Amino acid sequence: MLSKKLAFVTPSVTIGISTKVNELKKQGFQIVNLSIGEPDFFTPEKAKEAGIQAIHDNKTKYDAAAGVKELRDAIAIKLKEENGVSYTADEIVVSSGAKHCITNALIALLDDGDEVLIPKPYWVSYPEMVKLTGGVPVFVETQKSNDFKATIEDLEKVITDKTKIIFITNPSNPSGAVYTKAELEPIVNYLTEKGIYIIADEIYEKICYNNAFVSIASLSEKAKEMTITINGLAKSASMTGWRIGYTASNLTLAKAMGTIQGHLVSHPATISQYAAIAAIQSCQEDMKIMLEAYRARKDRAIELFKDIKGVDLVRPDGAFYLFVDMSILKNKIEWTDSFSVKLCDILLDEYKLAIVPGAAFGLDDYVRLSIAADLKDIEYGINSIKQLVEKHQ
Ligand code: GLU
Repeated sequence: MLSKKLAFVTPSVTIGISTKVNELKKQGFQIVNLSIGEPDFFTPEKAKEAGIQAIHDNKTKYDAAAGVKELRDAIAIKLKEENGVSYTADEIVVSSGAKHCITNALIALLDDGDEVLIPKPYWVSYPEMVKLTGGVPVFVETQKSNDFKATIEDLEKVITDKTKIIFITNPSNPSGAVYTKAELEPIVNYLTEKGIYIIADEIYEKICYNNAFVSIASLSEKAKEMTITINGLAKSASMTGWRIGYTASNLTLAKAMGTIQGHLVSHPATISQYAAIAAIQSCQEDMKIMLEAYRARKDRAIELFKDIKGVDLVRPDGAFYLFVDMSILKNKIEWTDSFSVKLCDILLDEYKLAIVPGAAFGLDDYVRLSIAADLKDIEYGINSIKQLVEKHQ
């Protein structure tokens, strides 16, 4: 009954776990939830007020498919001032969250059978989005010794004449790795020389602890031409439910994405778009406060993990996750299909801790913890992992 493409598409693990946790909580269970990556802060006041004001001002009608012009102007200024890349408002498309931006980009670029490179570990939805839009996900193996950042050698092994796009997530969800400019430049030159488009998922841009963040489109004119930058307000301004993401790309692609979303959804909610203008223009201080809170939690978490023998994590230079190598338990617990799924089941059942199995990100030796949560919960989560490891030593 369902279309053939759905046969290979699985539901989102991150959304699934979070939904399960909320159901368990409603049933009265106390669960510590370090699964979904959702800031535990409220949306900043100025953004909320702008949303409310938009309602009072009756800014509640249809608007341009690509997004409210004032917001696209504000985004263009942000990209120029913060990232050093010049775009006109016509090259910006505002969509219902970063996921929607990625889907628009894939629809705009992919023909059936085109290959899309996805370096491992990857964010859970990329492969499924590619399958849903007619493409073929091709995974890129990366090295732990390089914090799982892709190199030209890694890419060379999988590029074919069908390769159309690559995802580069920087800072990375789930690993927290951040590419330096020196790391990005050679791979971006290599990819653009080959005519491969780059979907640069920079949604965690503002959550970067080492000041190394460089926007891919800023590297060169050619990089700008071949890159679709994905960004939004969900993570940086704690506006997950408002659903505002945006792309910056060349004009041809921007027009195509505007047309696509014009047919599929018209445009994201106008009220949310007005709130996003305020977030971009007036909530930089709030973003910095959140960043410092994540930094303190991350530092504490790293300290605590030092006490767990045999368990290590990718150094989180950005985003708000810890990607933890649990392979020490691989021969110590019983599992069949997926080690990390079994491990997360044990942690949920026995320790009432919800985290995400690494299998969802393509690396089954790992688990992902979100630190966008209360410090006490983070401490509880790491202590639970410690107890589980010690139980099996
Ligand atoms: N991006 C977040 C995460 O990885 C939110 C969940 C989602 O959109 O899948 O947990």
